Amino acid sequence: MWVLPKPTDDAKTVFLDCISIIQDKALKKRLEHSAHDVADAAVRYEAKVASNKLYTLPRNKSTKANKDIRVLGLVTISEMKAVYTNCFALRGTKGRVLYDKILAQPKNSKCPYCFHRQVSTIDHYLSKAYYPLLCVAPVNLIPCCKDCNFTLGSKYPKQAEDELLHPYFDNVENELWLKAKVERTTPVSVSFYVSCPNHWDGLLKDRVKHHFDCLALNSLYSAEAANELTNLNYLLSNLLSTVGRSAVMDILKEMRNSRRSAHVNSWQTAMYTALAKDVWFCEGGFVV
Ligand SMILES: [Zn+2]
Repeated sequence: MWVLPKPTDDAKTVFLDCISIIQDKALKKRLEHSAHDVADAAVRYEAKVASNKLYTLPRNKSTKANKDIRVLGLVTISEMKAVYTNCFALRGTKGRVLYDKILAQPKNSKCPYCFHRQVSTIDHYLSKAYYPLLCVAPVNLIPCCKDCNFTLGSKYPKQAEDELLHPYFDNVENELWLKAKVERTTPVSVSFYVSCPNHWDGLLKDRVKHHFDCLALNSLYSAEAANELTNLNYLLSNLLSTVGRSAVMDILKEMRNSRRSAHVNSWQTAMYTALAKDVWFCEGGFVV
């Protein structure tokens, strides 16, 4: 949903750096022999992501029953996943330096998937449970919040429309696609929806909608909007009683302009846009 600079670190170099701390010589040697497969997997990943065909990459299904299945005949899925856990995410390891660097990328620590909550972990865009060769490939590692990471779990795309917006490769920041609607509930509420520009291709529209639905962003943004509306009530009530509807509309437009200058598709921009043009709301619909 939000663009981040693509990591420049090379997948094979990162992998070899990670496994350099492994004490078990036999395991280390088998992992070293897998390094070229790790590099190939990252190259295939970059070739596919540009054309939205990541879903065509072969998967290694990892379950309790077959966690010891070998990846390309050299190491097991669980051994490969342990490289991430023990040699990359673990504090004090050489890999953790890159982990922290990726974690620090988003501006103001905002999660690039939901652009609301704080970044606190790393998500495998293609799950390490199914794509173990990509477990420490930098282009597959997305800094995100715990809620988005939990929601995504081990999901994987089965078709192009299932591919979430990729912060390193997709840019939908500059054209308006997130909108909001004032709901005449008691108290008033705001709902959010996707409305993409007509000139976008059908696949991109489907992916934005999938991203929005998969991460339950309407629910997240509506809850935040409810809190914002509570905070606005005092200010808007005073303006309405002392100046009138036009003053309410004017302040909401200013708030919209301020939010929009920062981010075209933030939930705040969408909410203030909807509030400022809703006559019922501006004439007192906000009063609890
Ligand atoms: Zn998030």
